[in-house]
Amino acid sequence: MTRVLIVENNQPLLTSTAESLRAEGFEVHTAVSEAEALKILSQHLIHLAMVDIRLRDDQDENDDSGIKLCRKIGSSVARIVLTGARDWHLVRDALDPTDTHEPDAEAYLHKSESTETWLREIRRVLAAHYEVLPDRRIAILTSGGDAPGMNAAIWAALRSALTNNIEIDGIHDGYRGLIDGRIEKLKWLSVLDALTTGGTLLGSARCKEFHQEGPRTIGAQHLIDRHVDGLILIGGDGSMNGALALAKTVKKLGSDLQTIALPGTIDNDLFGTDMSIGAASAVTAIMHEINNMVAPARALRRIFVCEIMGRNSGFLTLEAGLCIGAEAMLLPEELIVVPDDKLEAGDWQDQVRINRTREALMCRLEEVSKRLENEFAAGKRHAFILFAEGIRLLTKDQITLQFVADTLSDYLKDWTSAQKPDVRPQVIGYPTRGVPPSRSDVHLGTLLGAAAVEALLAGDSERMLGWSEAEGRVVKTPFAEVVARSNRPPSVKYRDSWRATVELQKKLITPPAAFGQPK
Ligand code: ADP
Repeated sequence: MTRVLIVENNQPLLTSTAESLRAEGFEVHTAVSEAEALKILSQHLIHLAMVDIRLRDDQDENDDSGIKLCRKIGSSVARIVLTGARDWHLVRDALDPTDTHEPDAEAYLHKSESTETWLREIRRVLAAHYEVLPDRRIAILTSGGDAPGMNAAIWAALRSALTNNIEIDGIHDGYRGLIDGRIEKLKWLSVLDALTTGGTLLGSARCKEFHQEGPRTIGAQHLIDRHVDGLILIGGDGSMNGALALAKTVKKLGSDLQTIALPGTIDNDLFGTDMSIGAASAVTAIMHEINNMVAPARALRRIFVCEIMGRNSGFLTLEAGLCIGAEAMLLPEELIVVPDDKLEAGDWQDQVRINRTREALMCRLEEVSKRLENEFAAGKRHAFILFAEGIRLLTKDQITLQFVADTLSDYLKDWTSAQKPDVRPQVIGYPTRGVPPSRSDVHLGTLLGAAAVEALLAGDSERMLGWSEAEGRVVKTPFAEVVARSNRPPSVKYRDSWRATVELQKKLITPPAAFGQPK
């Protein structure tokens, strides 16, 4: 049912208008003051506000209280301005020039117009303002690092919301834009062509300020003002912490906010899903980048040591290494040393044993160098060693790509049987992330975007939706569990699930013992 709020201090006009609209089937709320109007707006999802421009005193030419109220109501509610002035352009001009109402989606009505004119204008404004008359309003944002496939998730969430009579606001630049109030209603065509594009059409950000209650309260109030009662966030575990904090702040302000997260990160470092949106595309992108380096590597007899993105996770290095047949993968999961008694501790990142990690890494490089000597002696001309950036990050830049390249070069000096190749460091960086999404990321984004709306409708909150290969379905994990279990030390992940892949890769790239020996 269409909900209309009439804000008018002329009681007889208020009563008669309300009665005629009720007779037409509208749910009508009435207010005689700004305070009453704002209270009703916070309690009900009002579709149309009809506001008299003079709320204090009809005779006072300088009374612009109605105009002020219009500004406070903002652009999410359709509006009709009631005026005694014949020249409504004066009223229009008095409204904030930055006001985002579309001209077609508002009207200026002289109070003495006929009921037929009122009804015609109400219907016109509602049709222009809404693609669907919403039963509820939710919001969506992308936060943290962008990832290919986020747009597919936005696309599916929007389409799914509208078909369920839910209006969906897009928040620009994650929590930064929420604080700034950069929120815009998404329309059916807002996401045209977005399905297969990389990045995020909403923009993303890391926002330190959101850790503070003050700025978070401003953001929360923006949602309450727009009557948003559900939020879909696409990002990593940091963004889920942000959503937990935001929901608490909204609660303190007397409202409720349901939150659903989708795993959006190329790093694939989140507990609760087999794959995060963006990871598969990033692996393919790395494969392409490295494939394009094969020709020069072969021509110039070169070993490339490539730093691969992934924050603390070696997933991209592991997958890309497997897919290109890398001669070695240097993974945090295998090499970062954390004392056993700190494995379950929350603060393990400060406990990384850098010297022991360096020793483990050097040991690997020595072994790789010996293996490659045989192969190069037998005619091999190039090799790729993938170094996960997590090792650099977790050792606070004490073990760098350059260190790996220099150490390997040193070991190569011991070669006697083969001509030594050049060793070159190469960072495989942002192009990894900016590619259009692969088939599987479009599929995953679409699936999870639609499921997010369903989850909100089902009343779920503080849950991340993920995909379980084993179960062949979308699974829901509480934010707190995602956050706690995603932040385990890398070696725990290795122990649990990666060892088999790493062992297989090692087997496939290690020649038999008799390789290259005289027969
Ligand atoms: P990701 O979501 O990829 O893990 P970040 O860790 O950078 O990315 O987190 C994204 C954003 O979420 C942060 O910039 C910050 O605005 C917000 N955020 C993270 N943790 C909290 C928290 N504890 N309280 C409030 N906001 C947070």
